[in-house]
Amino acid sequence: MEELEVKQALDDLANKWNVEESIYDLHLGRRDDVSDSQLVVNEVVFHIPYLTRDKTFVLWRCLWPDCHNCCERQGRLPLTRDDISLISNKMGYDSESEFIQKETRISSWNETSTMNNVITTISMISLKRKENENEDQDGKPLPCRFLDDCGSCKIHPDKPGVCWLYPFSSWMESSNGKPVVHASYQLTGDCPGFYTDKTSQPMMEIFQEYSKRIFSYNMSILRTTREKYGFINIVQ
Ligand code: SF4
Ligand code: SF4
Repeated sequence: MEELEVKQALDDLANKWNVEESIYDLHLGRRDDVSDSQLVVNEVVFHIPYLTRDKTFVLWRCLWPDCHNCCERQGRLPLTRDDISLISNKMGYDSESEFIQKETRISSWNETSTMNNVITTISMISLKRKENENEDQDGKPLPCRFLDDCGSCKIHPDKPGVCWLYPFSSWMESSNGKPVVHASYQLTGDCPGFYTDKTSQPMMEIFQEYSKRIFSYNMSILRTTREKYGFINIVQ
């Protein structure tokens, strides 16, 4: 997302939620004291921003059901092979190919980590966020058609894997010939759940829970690319 779009999203967020000044500035790249604090939980390397001047970690917790901003401003819903089976079934399709033809489209995009140290090009089958979604809307925030009036997801718990991961993004890197799963925050200005704390302790339960989700999602991504339902290239 462009800086201007992130700023607009943050300003909208700040009308409704308390967004700490340091969190606001971090999103806009205005902090020059950010270091990459790495925490390994259940084989997943979390990259947590540490603000060295304030001596604080950037932490997160979900504010649902008071908030459902990520579903109101959903940018893209890429599907793994497992997602395709689950969601086509949930939506009442007997045939996955008919589901793919009617309910999905192809998305292609580049992804960077919070610390801008990984660039990945990705093409995947994505669930349409609205019935007549078109190519120009790829990556642009839209209210998701599966969000109900109470702020719940109509296809939960069979929602796409990316919805279970938010606000983390994740990727795999090779270390000594072995694939290692990494995760960092998506700082798009859409989530009011970020805050700062002197220790990362308040988030330990979340790291435990999300490490399992993130690891299993990456294994699912491997199956997806192996079966040629998606393509991922690490550029750098
Ligand atoms: S935007 Fe953030 S706080 Fe709100 S529901 Fe989504 S993850 Fe939770
Ligand atoms: S599929 Fe469900 S969880 Fe995912 S963005 Fe849509 S409403 Fe939200």
